[in-house]
Amino acid sequence: MHFNTHFNDIAQSYLFSTIAQKVAAYSAAHPGREILRLGIGDVTLPLAPAVISALHSAVDDMADKSTFRGYGPEQGYDFLREGVRGYYLSHGVELEPDEIFISDGAKSDIGNILDIFGEGNTVLVPDPVYPVYVDTNTMAGRRVLYMNATEINGFLPMPDYSVDADIIYLCSPNNPTGAAYSKAQLKEWVDYANAKGAVILYDAAYECFITDDGLARSIFQIEGAKTCAVEFCSLSKTAGFTGTRCGYTVVPKALVRDGMSANKMWLRRQTTKFNGVSYIVQRGAAAVFTPEGMRQIAANLAVYRANAKLIADCMDELGIWYTGGKNSPYIWLRCPDGMGSWQFFDYLLENIQVVGTPGAGFGANGEGFFRLTAFGSPEVTKEAVAGIKSLLKK
Ligand code: PLP
Repeated sequence: MHFNTHFNDIAQSYLFSTIAQKVAAYSAAHPGREILRLGIGDVTLPLAPAVISALHSAVDDMADKSTFRGYGPEQGYDFLREGVRGYYLSHGVELEPDEIFISDGAKSDIGNILDIFGEGNTVLVPDPVYPVYVDTNTMAGRRVLYMNATEINGFLPMPDYSVDADIIYLCSPNNPTGAAYSKAQLKEWVDYANAKGAVILYDAAYECFITDDGLARSIFQIEGAKTCAVEFCSLSKTAGFTGTRCGYTVVPKALVRDGMSANKMWLRRQTTKFNGVSYIVQRGAAAVFTPEGMRQIAANLAVYRANAKLIADCMDELGIWYTGGKNSPYIWLRCPDGMGSWQFFDYLLENIQVVGTPGAGFGANGEGFFRLTAFGSPEVTKEAVAGIKSLLKK
């Protein structure tokens, strides 16, 4: 017996543990000082009332013999898939119900989808990157190539036809950089993938933050995407489901390679290894897609958008270069005065007790950059922004 030795190749991530240690050490040395956390990518507002009411009534369903549910369809109940289908339609994307698979969140499916890909595939990811794309492939022994996301390309790398990639990860709006591809840029990616026979794994976890028409809510808004892309999305950020857990993955029927259908393989994979998301959670999720649910989540998203604007306006005032802030809950800024990511982290913590995330933790190109998030409360965000302004205004 031997374990999967590829696990030895996964880089240890010390990012969030180092942040936690530094904050704990600071708090121990300065008891009673409030820490203003704009680092973590978790939401802070509670679930919408329509979701809560649907969850309660689903619990009642489970208490009654006539409405009790046991195992459900692995790919999700029709009532939720119809909700997701309607959401896509509202963005001009037509999907068949069985192209939609309900998940317990984007992260699981982003990892699990690799079951349907051959081992020898070459993977292309941006640097900086959401680490899940790299680690899941490293675990499977795949070769990972990086493309540079930098200030020069606005942290939006474009296809290079001299690179032969099989699996391409695109995340837009991006974590950690907040940068979002335009529809025209995504068309170039779709054309590249179709020309190379590659597949784009498109992470749309932050699509709900997009307000500009020229940006894509879904890769399937781009002509030709159904023959080359799989899309992952989530209610985590859209509707505060980070702890409740529900998302969806779209695998188009037109995505076929060597006579093999990605949709059929993914269904086979899911029916073999997954027994579906709980009925109660799916009822709660379906409430998100009702007119009432949509109105309520819009109000929550408006709070996060206002936080993002506050931070972005502060950067504008200070003359600090950044991406995101608009169409994204993340603000990715260049550390002032040539400071390194961790140096700036310490500077903010020690002087104004603001905690962000050092960009260097997301890849080599993140060095010298820093991520702030809009998911804090408006009060904490205002206080943090006021502190940043007075600290950095020269
Ligand atoms: N994709 C990106 C880019 C994320 O930042 C996150 C979570 O922060 C996820 C996926 C995972 O989302 P979920 O909560 O749906 O698993």
